[in-house]
Amino acid sequence: MLIKGFQKLTVLDFPGRTACTVFTGGCNFRCPFCHNALLVTEMDEYFYSEEEIFEHLEKRKNVIDGVAVTGGEPLLQKDIERFLYEIKEKGFAVKLDTNGSFPEKLDGILQLGLADYVAMDIKNCPEKYGVTIGVPDFDIKPVCESIELLKNSGIDYEFRTTVTADFHTIDDIEKTAQWIQGAPRYFLQNFEDSGNLIDSSCRGVSRDEMREMLKRAQKFIPNAQLRGM
Ligand code: SF4
Repeated sequence: MLIKGFQKLTVLDFPGRTACTVFTGGCNFRCPFCHNALLVTEMDEYFYSEEEIFEHLEKRKNVIDGVAVTGGEPLLQKDIERFLYEIKEKGFAVKLDTNGSFPEKLDGILQLGLADYVAMDIKNCPEKYGVTIGVPDFDIKPVCESIELLKNSGIDYEFRTTVTADFHTIDDIEKTAQWIQGAPRYFLQNFEDSGNLIDSSCRGVSRDEMREMLKRAQKFIPNAQLRGM
């Protein structure tokens, strides 16, 4: 496992759990608004060993009951299944974040019961997917497959979209919600500048636009919510 970051305690990353967060390195997307650009582009150095993560879990097992595994794109890791298995075997719940582009790997993880909660990014409506992820000729078929897998999995999951002024119009969000309708949870989160972006010119949208986007999304997903506002 290429582990590039480790947050020892979070009550925000894993719904209903006190967790730690493991950040894996590398991603097949290049979203200009990626807030973890160094995790995505700098691939050659390990920052944390699995031993360090498991030692911390052992020490804090009275406080922590979950591990959020995020990236980058965690499903790019060759040994992700083994890593999740070891976390589960030690008695911790697993939340997996994914961009949805590896449906076969996701399916295997769901079949094996290696994730308790999955958060999948829906980057934009289908016609603007490639440009939004910085891979203009991207074929969205795998993303469509991952959406269907989660909808039919019986697992707890959410879809979420990070909204930017540069790539997302109100109509785009309505089309996105229509595409994924039937999902139990859909979160819209406004872009915030982390200072560690792939493209430093990205901007968020106004609060009023976020509210209008939410209204449009709720036409198709009544339980859609704004996150972080
Ligand atoms: S935002 Fe997520 S999917 Fe996009 S480049 Fe960053 S880590 Fe990859």
